[in-house]
Amino acid sequence: MKNAYLQRVYDQVLARDPDAPEFHQCIREFLESLENIVDDHPEWEKNGILERFIEPDRTVTFRVTWVDDAGKVQVNRGYRVQYNSAIGPYKGGLRFHPSVNLSVIKFLGFEMNLKNGLTTLPLGGGKGGSDFDPKGKSEAEIMRFCQAFITELYRHIGQFTDIPAGDIGVGSREIGYMFGQMKRITNRFEAATLTGKGLTYGGSLVRTEATGYGICYFTQEMLKKMCGTDFAGKTVIVTGSGNVAIFCAEKVMQLGGKVVAMSDSNGYVYDPAGIDLDLIKDIKLVRRARIKEYAKEKDGAVYKEGCRNIWDIPCQIALPCATQNEVDATEAKKIIAGGCIALAEGANMPCTIEAVELLHAAGIPVGPAKAVNAGGVSTSALEMSQNSIRMNWSFEEVDEKLHGIMKGIFEAAYDASVAVGQPGNLVVGANVASFLKIADAMVAQGIV
Ligand code: NDP
Repeated sequence: MKNAYLQRVYDQVLARDPDAPEFHQCIREFLESLENIVDDHPEWEKNGILERFIEPDRTVTFRVTWVDDAGKVQVNRGYRVQYNSAIGPYKGGLRFHPSVNLSVIKFLGFEMNLKNGLTTLPLGGGKGGSDFDPKGKSEAEIMRFCQAFITELYRHIGQFTDIPAGDIGVGSREIGYMFGQMKRITNRFEAATLTGKGLTYGGSLVRTEATGYGICYFTQEMLKKMCGTDFAGKTVIVTGSGNVAIFCAEKVMQLGGKVVAMSDSNGYVYDPAGIDLDLIKDIKLVRRARIKEYAKEKDGAVYKEGCRNIWDIPCQIALPCATQNEVDATEAKKIIAGGCIALAEGANMPCTIEAVELLHAAGIPVGPAKAVNAGGVSTSALEMSQNSIRMNWSFEEVDEKLHGIMKGIFEAAYDASVAVGQPGNLVVGANVASFLKIADAMVAQGIV
């Protein structure tokens, strides 16, 4: 980094958290975004704004003890990182996956804080989860784990403190078990303490679809402003086949795009005729099976082992929606060679820094995750609003609000990229737009 203050802050992160590669990656990307403006803000160094911004307010780790179907006691580790509450209570999802560790949760919490700053809604940032692996667990084991997890976490959350939601491995089933257990412990129906709830007990219409739909609303704006085109007739690849990927693919199709490939953590399916989304939904959401079943049941489709090779297939629009760092320099080169005109990050940090540099150098606009996938948390905030006023809005009302929020996020990121002299660099624009807002609130609230 050229600026000495930025470099000092980064060196401090490396020294303090030596074994946290994902965390280093997001901090580096963020600090590099400030190169063009840091000299105009001497008050940041004086007030230790960057040092405070990168250090979470609070980190909680805890033991989760539960009993499996064989009667054996199992122990997992739970986390909640409450990052920053300058503009609202902490808000962010819970991830249940064996790869979860403190580095992953801190990177997700840091990104969440910047994401929430972009939404125009009053939300701070946080994230949590566990190294519990839901794969292969029975329904009863999932319920017992969720109950054990929330039995510890409940004392740290609340509608005015910290509001968790879903993420990888946590969908409405898990949120339901956690909500039920929390109600049992506290004897209070505080709907706005967890979002992503089922519709019969305080959930919002569109929340299930929101992240995926929001990705497409953002990409629509990006295509219009930066490529002079839209989804109609474009070949699209959506990686993953979870909550985000499925509803992203649904909206791509509604907007006239053709999704030709999707994946899971084992491999990918290629269907040149266009993916049959009802079949994907049946396999992944109903049967909870592997994506390779698709190729067995759909004529003309092929399955290939190894999810990263999905980028061997050419596409015009790339929407990585599975997990972090799924696109590195090798995949980025394939995406460029395949004639891609735009990439929008649906998952959190799916592209490495090197991948983004290569895409930018090839003139391909990149929508950064914190802007592109903010539709999920935005609709969670709309869920909280409905819980507070004890009313339910229609699908169309929520969808319209979501659409407006995503347009606003694109404009904020694009305008900030112009203001800092890097027009069209939405990675920089999103970081700057959000950080300036949160930093202003931090300065106004004094040294806390
Ligand atoms: P899900 O658990 O519903 O789905 C994750 C999908 O990604 C699954 O298809 C999974 O495959 C696949 N996957 C996991 N690891 C890999 C890998 N290494 N390579 C390829 N595929 C992989 O999670 P979500 O859809 O909720 O989340 C996906 C991403 O979107 C995450 O980065 C999450 O943080 C982000 N996000 C989610 C939001 C939400 O509202 N849910 C909001 C904003 C961001 P398999 O079936 O084999 O496990």
